[in-house]
Amino acid sequence: MGGPLETEVQFLKGVGPKAAAILHKLGLRTVSDVLWHLPRRYEDRRDTPQLMMLRPGQPATVRGVLESVETRPIRGGRVMIRATLGDDTGLVDLIWFNQAWIARELQKKKGEIVAYGMVRSGAKNKLEISSPEWEWIDADDETEEFAKVVPVYGLSEGVSQALVRRAAASAAEFFAPQVPESLPESILRSERLKSVAWALNQMHRPDSLEKQREARRRLVFEEFFLMQLVLQMKRNEVHQETGIAFPITQLSGQRAASTSLFEGASALDEGGTLWDELHAMLPFELTGAQRRVTKEIWEDMERPTPMNRLIQGDVGSGKTAVAAAAMLAAVRCGYQAALMAPTEILAEQHTMNLRRLFEPLGIAVVPLVGKQPAKVKRRYQQMAATGLAQICIGTHAIIQEGVEFQKLGLAVVDEQHRFGVRQRMALRTKAIGNPDVLVMTATPIPRTLTMTLYGDLDLSIIDELPPGRKPIKTHWKPTSERSFVYQAVEKLLEEGRQAYFVCPMIEDNEKVQAQAAEDLFYRLNEQVFPHRRVGLLHGQMKSTEKEATMDLFRKHELDILVSTVVIEVGVDVPNACVMVIEDANRFGLAQLHQLRGRVGRGEFQSFCILIADANSDESRSRMEILVQTTDGFKIAEEDLRLRGPGDMAGVKQHGALDFRIADLVQDSDLLEKARAAALELLSDDPLLAAPEHAGLRKRVKERRSESALVTVS
Ligand code: ADP
Ligand code: MG
Repeated sequence: MGGPLETEVQFLKGVGPKAAAILHKLGLRTVSDVLWHLPRRYEDRRDTPQLMMLRPGQPATVRGVLESVETRPIRGGRVMIRATLGDDTGLVDLIWFNQAWIARELQKKKGEIVAYGMVRSGAKNKLEISSPEWEWIDADDETEEFAKVVPVYGLSEGVSQALVRRAAASAAEFFAPQVPESLPESILRSERLKSVAWALNQMHRPDSLEKQREARRRLVFEEFFLMQLVLQMKRNEVHQETGIAFPITQLSGQRAASTSLFEGASALDEGGTLWDELHAMLPFELTGAQRRVTKEIWEDMERPTPMNRLIQGDVGSGKTAVAAAAMLAAVRCGYQAALMAPTEILAEQHTMNLRRLFEPLGIAVVPLVGKQPAKVKRRYQQMAATGLAQICIGTHAIIQEGVEFQKLGLAVVDEQHRFGVRQRMALRTKAIGNPDVLVMTATPIPRTLTMTLYGDLDLSIIDELPPGRKPIKTHWKPTSERSFVYQAVEKLLEEGRQAYFVCPMIEDNEKVQAQAAEDLFYRLNEQVFPHRRVGLLHGQMKSTEKEATMDLFRKHELDILVSTVVIEVGVDVPNACVMVIEDANRFGLAQLHQLRGRVGRGEFQSFCILIADANSDESRSRMEILVQTTDGFKIAEEDLRLRGPGDMAGVKQHGALDFRIADLVQDSDLLEKARAAALELLSDDPLLAAPEHAGLRKRVKERRSESALVTVS
């Protein structure tokens, strides 16, 4: 393609062919690659403390002469490298494990080095830094050059900090000014952002930490802004496709004509016959939030464009009833509806609940799950294909594997957020026509993640719990108090209640988890509660066995259910009022909240007991949050803050979260700003067709083709 930014790295001042080959190891081939290989952090070398001033527990940049380097074998065939660094005032040890190449590097010459890391007190009260980043101070470094804010880059073996820094400085000095600006003038002005050229230069050659922060802010904004443009444009496109216009108003009958005479009143306001039918079908009054969301959905369904809506609501907020309202509307308009659940247990549970609601109305509900006998499955599939089955319920997999429908109008995806965007896409392309899609997340996620992962969907929030629930009491107990916990559970069992026990999370592997569940089952069944009826549930059991066990528990023919996290979603037994979670600190916060949501579903005071020895501040604060609040949104925010987006349940390795520079926790305010700016820009120029938006249009197109690649792989 050419262009100065595509210049090969070997032509950068101070690089050359040999160094270029080394830079290639980091994936840096062109000037543009180098410019966008942004520093991981900065060292303020105007201020390196004397070694005497170091304190354990604080990160520090240290500078000194290398006094000695020793390599020593330790247990398990590993080696430890200990380098002692000294200045006029004291000593500090630098320690690495199993990185022989570092020892070789350090033994190459004598001289001064600079290192960065967390200081702690080691053996014999000496101070040490474990696995520090480090580099030689070149003798030809001018003191002046050395004493400033220095960028620190991510490296790989054999690539030196000095080389990357040299390449980046040269790229920034000579090429950054040529990086074209893609943000429109108006946005730069209103958001007070500097040019991209300025920002890239300050990232690599900061005049001060303040300027570097301003530069970073500009780049973060751009990253969020582009992402939001992509998502919003996708959303707009769906809104332009042709979908099904469900004639709900007509169904809703006589009142429609008269109410529409009033300004702002809609035919879907309460009172139509469909509302009457819905109220009659449900065994309870809908909450205000459920009614509001039902109306939002019905309005979407009535529009001729496809619905693409996300429902978020805390555990127990009653998402199923809202889904049932949507399905009822679809069926009454002459279409089929499908509900996809993440697990078979949940699919069966939904089938049972929905049959109870729909069959009295003469609406057929049919399960499509994996392990049905072939004959049954064939019959149900036929019912789906001929339209006899008006509501079909299955796991995500089953429905994607090409079940045929006669006239599918609505797909509801009940989604633990480990199922994602990809499945939703598959559905759109696979299903006949362009059905309306409703996605329900099983667990609330923080707003920043919603905007990132589901930014292309319309959002409805159920922010109200059904009335009359007693808040669940949560207790956190150390393992040493386990026997007291068992006694407390026994007392509840004596009162006629039932209990769940969740086994420790060993690893994310069904077989290993099954073992852990067997182990806990054995202990509780044989030793702790020999006089009680104890059942076992894990992912390695046949689905008929699982179903039978669930059934026994539901009928109170079991007192205790020992399980892996398979009960995390969907299980609903009002008489079960205590949830004991073993080794609770091994689970994610959102997961614990979800597990806790299995109790508190009936009239009894419910309890959740977290058994955990917290061995760090983080795990202590995690347990405390659960004890303090039952607000799922708050818990999700904390989970994000404590563990970062990459570690949250279900969003692991989600491509959409791989930001080049932005950080969803730290930069959430910028995300809000970028989203607002993107919406405003698109409302003026929906296709970015204006000449001053040409640069932006190009960037958006690039991003879309990148994310398309990710989706297909
Ligand atoms: P979730 O949002 O976690 O999927 P569910 O739809 O499973 O919640 O509902 C949780 C429980 O609350 C169910 O037992 C359901 O019957 C009950 N429920 C839902 N809505 C209401 C309501 N408006 N009034 C009373 N109970 C309700
Ligand atoms: Mg649910």
